[in-house]
Amino acid sequence: MTSKRIVLHFPHRLVDQPIVYKLVKDFNLSFNILKASVTPQEEGLMVLELSGQDADFKKGMDYLQSSGLKIQPLSEDVKRNQAKCTDCGVCVPICPVQALAVDPTNRKVIFYEDKCIACELCIKICPAHAMEIHF
Ligand code: SF4
Ligand code: SF4
Repeated sequence: MTSKRIVLHFPHRLVDQPIVYKLVKDFNLSFNILKASVTPQEEGLMVLELSGQDADFKKGMDYLQSSGLKIQPLSEDVKRNQAKCTDCGVCVPICPVQALAVDPTNRKVIFYEDKCIACELCIKICPAHAMEIHF
């Protein structure tokens, strides 16, 4: 039995496709959707807990990869380098799960690490390079 938490990035052309349904029907996998959203770039993003027999799980992952999705294990850890962050707020609207937010009392940007799904969007956009990914 294999059970993993993964992040799926759906390109725009695949957002409407019944990809998760096929994982259940064709590969006998069970899933629990932890988060799902469409990013400002209209990329679909889904965090799943996926479980099944080892062979089925491997086939299901092969199917996901061949469909053109980007698959990311949820073992990556995003950290903010406080010394570099200027609280500019650029990262706040880009975060698909509201893990970055402006504190209305002092206009500082708060990072809720427990909400972060390691999509890396803030890492690409942060002008101060304050958001870092650790493996
Ligand atoms: S974009 Fe970077 S510098 Fe600006 S608030 Fe976010 S983490 Fe801080
Ligand atoms: S990597 Fe950045 S943008 Fe993505 S979920 Fe985590 S905090 Fe939000």
